[in-house]
Amino acid sequence: MQGIVGAQTAPVVVLKAARVFDGEATHEGWAVRVKGDRIEAAGPAADIATSNAEVVDLGALTLLPGLVEGHSHVLLHAYSETPWNDQVAHEGLALRVARATNHLRLTLMAGFTTIRDLGTEGAGYADVELKQAVEQGIIPGPRMLVATRAIVATGTYAPKGFVPEWTVPQGAQEADGVDSLIRTVRDQIGRGADWIKLYGDYRWGPHAGSHPTFSLEEMKLAVETAKSAGVPVAVHTVTVEGMRRAILAGAETIEHGNEGTPEIFKLMVEHHVALCPTLTAGGGMPKPGETESPAVTRRRAVFKAALDAGVTILSGSDVGTFPHGDNVREIERMVDYGMPNLDALRSATSVAGQVLHMDIGQVKAGMLADLIAVEGDPVKDVEALRRVRFVMKGGVVFKEVERGAAR
Ligand SMILES: [Zn+2]
Repeated sequence: MQGIVGAQTAPVVVLKAARVFDGEATHEGWAVRVKGDRIEAAGPAADIATSNAEVVDLGALTLLPGLVEGHSHVLLHAYSETPWNDQVAHEGLALRVARATNHLRLTLMAGFTTIRDLGTEGAGYADVELKQAVEQGIIPGPRMLVATRAIVATGTYAPKGFVPEWTVPQGAQEADGVDSLIRTVRDQIGRGADWIKLYGDYRWGPHAGSHPTFSLEEMKLAVETAKSAGVPVAVHTVTVEGMRRAILAGAETIEHGNEGTPEIFKLMVEHHVALCPTLTAGGGMPKPGETESPAVTRRRAVFKAALDAGVTILSGSDVGTFPHGDNVREIERMVDYGMPNLDALRSATSVAGQVLHMDIGQVKAGMLADLIAVEGDPVKDVEALRRVRFVMKGGVVFKEVERGAAR
């Protein structure tokens, strides 16, 4: 028999650590009180009541909000293992889902407690049910915001290279114009999309490089339709014209933005559009002795222009194109490309919480108790994020601190 209501019996845990990065700044000697799935209090240890609480001493570790991956594809695995075309065309749904369960576990254990997964790339609505599996405790994984199939203009996406008479299943859902675009947006929301993802440009047509796909009017229709359900829109776009249309249409985030200019970044700031730069997907870093590729040099300059313009940056890596669990590469890359450590950390915590409209990314009363502890001080050295020793999501511990690790 259960006689007492849950709110009174929710377990209480007090976490103590050498320092707490709260999403904005670092504090020495703080403690955090967690009740149920939320943070009840955070502040100087002397002010945090430990009555009726289990006290977990994290010793010399740094406690911080669980990290956020702003752009993932858990239904893809590294292109170095299998090219995208072959994954979409030759790997079946069950195989892809089986891999994805591993990807989700690796992501959580790497300290990423929330992901925004931007398209299943041919794996239907599997993201919706993976999210359910995590929420029901069937498999360990981060919180998931999902986009289902993503939306592309007819003829613009891949796999390509088949005889024109063949209709090949595409890596995303095709839709165009008033009727089918509105219906597709509604259909994806009806099947569980938390975000709508549009491809605003892609490599299509007779000329090399990316070219705009949806018209401004089409993008506006999609945004307006999604807005009725409170669903935000993310737009993949690398060209200036694609970015311009996405901004004016009311997209909330732009994915990649590879060819952004100071003028277009200024427009993003004016319209409060965040950039998810996916620098990791923009080309490999040179090995010692090698010179940097021109593509990487360009991305550096473009990212700097975005920072100089004051664009809100959501940390997102396009993980899935490279191994899951190595998401921290993006934060390291942003720092390498000139973003101050503190800002890079914010873009994966507090700023991410704001951009994604979730109670995450800050260590403060009322937030979800998504907390990790790392060895070292990530504000001084982002590589500390590779030494995750403790992971809590929604008040539940998924990685227990080992004896000795806290020293
Ligand atoms: Zn992507």
